[in-house]
Amino acid sequence: MTIERMEDVHGEEFKFDKSNIPMRGHGTTVYLTTDKQHAVSFFSEEMKKNINVTRLKNIVFAYRDKIFKAPGGDFFKQIFSWPEFLINENNVLATVSPVYPSCFFFEDDPSNMRKSVCSGALKEPHWFASAVNFKNYVPLKERGTLLGYLNVCLNLSRGVKKLHQFDLIPGDLSFGSFLMDPSNGSVIIRKIAHLATKEFPLYHIQEDPEFAAPERLKSLQADDSSTPRTKEHDRHSLSTLIYHVLLRRHPLLGSPVFYPEADGNRSVLPADKPLFIENPDHPYKRLVLSPGNEKYMPWIDARDLPSSVLGPHLGALFFRAFTDGLVDPSQRPEPGDWIDALVKTRDMLHPCSNPECPTGSFVFNLETRACPYCGARVEDPVPYLEFHTMSGDKYIDESRSLFIPGNLSLYPWHLDKNTVPNEFLPPEKTKAAGYFSFHNGKWCFVNQTVSDLCYYKGKSKPRSVPINQMAELEEDLVFFSPAQPVPYRLIVRISS
Ligand SMILES: [Zn+2]
Repeated sequence: MTIERMEDVHGEEFKFDKSNIPMRGHGTTVYLTTDKQHAVSFFSEEMKKNINVTRLKNIVFAYRDKIFKAPGGDFFKQIFSWPEFLINENNVLATVSPVYPSCFFFEDDPSNMRKSVCSGALKEPHWFASAVNFKNYVPLKERGTLLGYLNVCLNLSRGVKKLHQFDLIPGDLSFGSFLMDPSNGSVIIRKIAHLATKEFPLYHIQEDPEFAAPERLKSLQADDSSTPRTKEHDRHSLSTLIYHVLLRRHPLLGSPVFYPEADGNRSVLPADKPLFIENPDHPYKRLVLSPGNEKYMPWIDARDLPSSVLGPHLGALFFRAFTDGLVDPSQRPEPGDWIDALVKTRDMLHPCSNPECPTGSFVFNLETRACPYCGARVEDPVPYLEFHTMSGDKYIDESRSLFIPGNLSLYPWHLDKNTVPNEFLPPEKTKAAGYFSFHNGKWCFVNQTVSDLCYYKGKSKPRSVPINQMAELEEDLVFFSPAQPVPYRLIVRISS
């Protein structure tokens, strides 16, 4: 045992055992402190040449305070692995961060036959976002459901949005930039020390070309370091990550494993003429199913599982990101666009009746009424709510719906258009307003907290649903809470 002690720039002492085998990161060597509460990341000599210490200090102290001490800051303590301390003495430069929560490590299961592959490993996105890795290596109990993957993308988008609010640009936004746990939908964004700031843009950075925007890829391939990475580049990377995580293939390549010319070689990414694999004008870009690869269905065939299976909100954003957005950076969806689409898509989930289903739930489609991942059909009537607002005596369709079997609770943001589920929501607004229940062969809504909840049908006079009372759902019934700033009219529909 070789215990070494070091102090950060404010005199905080850290001890670690230098005889342990360190982990290696992005130009760093990482030791755990002896109390196993922190990870000390030492920058290599090569990295130190390119690191501006003032930028690093700003990130560790000034920006950390700006984000975490602002309203809603506590929420982001779970989203970012943000360095808390900086060591800069005796030619040593290191950051000190809290260790990752245990949910971001695969369980070390001795019965796991593939122990050497991912047991105990970090839950890096490539395990879940590649059809091959997911099918072959991720244990069943770690696979999560579609809801978990939507929440992963939601939390990732929230993190990127927060960074952009402070003009912070990730040096790289790729599978290496975060860890994910689809079991509970959580994410932790790392490599914070490599953020570019407004004062110190980054030019010489390592980026994963698979997630680089086409114009960025061109400059990377030409070794042109005259332009810094920008928010527009991030928007392409974020769109690519969301597509990859939700559909388990690359939007421009599919999975390289199944792209014959690519053969796993990232240098063949089409920087000059990038094309969305689902672009109907260029069907040759669709992946061809090779013999023996059927077990990776439905993920690997965009014809069998187009992004439209994720519903209209996400489907529209994917097309914008990978058609117009490929050539015109101003067309790329922003993190806030993804947040809005993901929140609305969560409301459209329906549980799958097939216990073998790889996703457990799916975005309900009124026409097909079937799970696109396993084919299981929904035979029972499906109640859902359509969201409208009122303008005068006219209903305005908000193009939004909530499918009740997959969303058994109603939340404050379903009653008021001005309430958005985000980090600023006070705790009382995160509690369910009520719940849906299948009772004596009928669907009912039980009001738990809404003091002025009403319902009516047609031209009938509104009737109230007192707290702890229930109302039976029937076609065309309209629920609303008039005291809300912009109350939604929730129209009951029954699809059969
Ligand atoms: Zn299914």
